[in-house]
Amino acid sequence: MAEETHLKSEPRLEVRRGLFVCGVVQGVGFRPFVYRLALEEGLTGFVGNDTDGVTIEIEGLAERVEAFHARLRSEAPPLSRIDSVEARDLPLAGGSGFRIVASEVHGRVSTGIPADAATCPDCLRELLDPGDRRYRYPFLNCTNCGPRFTITRRIPYDRPQTSMAKFAMCPECQREYDDPLNRRFHAQPNACWSCGPHVWLTGADGVEIQTDDAVVACIDRLAAGEIMAIKGIGGFHLSVDATNFAAVKRLRERKRRYGKPLAVMVRDLDAARAICVLNAKEEALLLTAARPIVLAERREGCEIADNVAPGIPWLGVFLPYAPLQHLLFADARVRALVMTSANLSEEPIAIDNDEARKRLGVIADAFLMHDREILQRCDDSVAAVVDGSEQLVRRARGYVPIGMALPFNASPLLAVGGHLKNVFALARGKFVYQSQHLGDLENLAGLEFFRESLDHLMRTFEIEPLTVVHDLHPGYLSTTWAKEWAQEKGLTPIAVQHHHAHIAGCMAEHGLTDSVIGLALDGTGYGADGKIWGGEVLIARLDGFQRFAHLDYVAMPGGEAAIKEPWRMALGHLCAAGFNLTSHETQALVGATEQEARVLAQMMERGVNAPQTSSLGRLFDAVAAVVLERRVVDYEAQAAIELEGIAVNETDDLPGYTMEMLGGDWPARTPVRIGAARLWQELLKDLRIGTSKARIAARFHAGVAEGFVWASVLARAAAGVNQVALSGGCMHNRRLARLLRVKLEAAGFEVFQHTQVSPGDGGLSYGQAAVATAILNRPKSA
Ligand SMILES: [Zn+2]
Ligand SMILES: [Zn+2]
Ligand SMILES: [Zn+2]
Repeated sequence: MAEETHLKSEPRLEVRRGLFVCGVVQGVGFRPFVYRLALEEGLTGFVGNDTDGVTIEIEGLAERVEAFHARLRSEAPPLSRIDSVEARDLPLAGGSGFRIVASEVHGRVSTGIPADAATCPDCLRELLDPGDRRYRYPFLNCTNCGPRFTITRRIPYDRPQTSMAKFAMCPECQREYDDPLNRRFHAQPNACWSCGPHVWLTGADGVEIQTDDAVVACIDRLAAGEIMAIKGIGGFHLSVDATNFAAVKRLRERKRRYGKPLAVMVRDLDAARAICVLNAKEEALLLTAARPIVLAERREGCEIADNVAPGIPWLGVFLPYAPLQHLLFADARVRALVMTSANLSEEPIAIDNDEARKRLGVIADAFLMHDREILQRCDDSVAAVVDGSEQLVRRARGYVPIGMALPFNASPLLAVGGHLKNVFALARGKFVYQSQHLGDLENLAGLEFFRESLDHLMRTFEIEPLTVVHDLHPGYLSTTWAKEWAQEKGLTPIAVQHHHAHIAGCMAEHGLTDSVIGLALDGTGYGADGKIWGGEVLIARLDGFQRFAHLDYVAMPGGEAAIKEPWRMALGHLCAAGFNLTSHETQALVGATEQEARVLAQMMERGVNAPQTSSLGRLFDAVAAVVLERRVVDYEAQAAIELEGIAVNETDDLPGYTMEMLGGDWPARTPVRIGAARLWQELLKDLRIGTSKARIAARFHAGVAEGFVWASVLARAAAGVNQVALSGGCMHNRRLARLLRVKLEAAGFEVFQHTQVSPGDGGLSYGQAAVATAILNRPKSA
């Protein structure tokens, strides 16, 4: 929330003014910008970093001080973000000149570490200019670009605290670094051919391969179809030529990842347009300093191999963000590269040279190494334009550790997030700092990454939590860890229900503090009744919620196995919809043998290993199993993604299948059950009469949206609330997000969706922080 205090004074008078600037203003060239501005306006005084911002004192003619104040905002450097400027009048102090003072003002250390930023146009020009002293230097950067978060060990963000410490600057680099009017003034990772890091090639055996130019040798190998492990900004990538089907196939086999879509990097925006159909917002997103992977519609007949993203009409595309990557594309032989996080299945991304050789030696044919140490693992971020606005699927490189606002002040706390796609959050004051995407907390490697990142962020922001917030699920590793940690440190633990956290995150992002109707449409979350929730209509405040309606419970035969095998969910749903599982027709629908159907029917009948769920994600799985014959999935949400994908060319105005509202008594707090029996009957009828799969999938999406809109109308009548917050992993589904918004607005609702925080489980910790802060801020009863 931007606020401004502006003072007015007589123009001819000499005045002195103190300004305190909050926001993303450290390590982004803000002080030299202020310095230049002060020189231009002929003002004296100083600028320095403070704990949470930048402190400025300026003195001179009042009209010049006013002009400085106005230009501070309008001309701020590209990577900065001004949240507020506090101004106060000070007594004249005289003095001459304008100074940049060291990283400490008033005895307090500055804590800001910026996010990693893509190579800026000025640096890119130098990189490709044969006359420049940094021509083809793979690590050039300046105050407007370069690695930040990933090379920083601790605060303050100064060179000795980064992995650049071991490289002593040459006189020329030092001169740039010391000159406030130079683009590289205090650019902590500043380096050149003669003083900075370098690259080299090694074989899979770890032995260095002699080359004239390691980058050119790497391109030779990529062009020949080899698999390269390339060290980047936040970790290693595994890379192959994305137009080479056989090379992609070999990468998949070696990585043991057969279906999951792989991200593709191309040289520039034109190259991205050649492989994807992009709208203006998607193009802008591709070009942001964060350079996320953008999920966009694949252009039909483009040269990308079919096995890069099999079975779906989208590609994850992104542009080079490091000089080394630009150099790979400077050679016309490389047009599109698969660039996927270098890890085996769900392990954290590899960052260390030795670790990479050990872990990736079985996958990569060779390594392009460098000697600038990566201190923070950080995957590429993933974003999409959903229903016309930006949505983050995975918030990591380029976004972390930028703080996100809360609608009120938080006492220091840690929110540990969920189980899959874990992201934790630290909150203090008006800000929540989310960690990078940490991956699944299912094993020790995941937990180790969690601890390592937590230590680092606690040090970075000097936050000592007083409260620990965790999910309600007793079995999550994050919950167990949080409870133990709370006990060890004598802190208060607070448990937050999964879907309440999802909705609270959306509310907090929009500063909503009154009750809303929350549609939490999701895969899996532990419910307050011990069942598995995920198709929820909540009447929610930040500090609590009532469950107004939910998808009617069905069994998940085989528990967790039903998530990996959608045919099981199909049997669960058909059973709940009243179909006879012993009939051959039902078995044929889901592709189950008689034996399989019998075993599952028994599980459900006896309630053994068949937990109850109201998950919308599981309904998508079940429908995909029947319509697309998707029996097993290879990656999370694959069935749902394919179901959305097949409908991509269908119009939005098809009539939906019917969902029914069953029971419900609001005064008695008995939730409405949203039943899918009729939906199944209508869908199967369409299937029988030969309606296209695309049309069936589209009508299914419409039916789900209409069902939840109807439930929202009932909730509005019961609770008198007209604002709807949408959250949960299903909101990554563009068709569903769009249909819900359009249909809700048609019914007169005001609709809110996530933009900065992921609607999936990556956003949970932000929502948890919002709930806990609201609970802690409740007025004390007398
Ligand atoms: Zn630059
Ligand atoms: Zn140098
Ligand atoms: Zn969730």
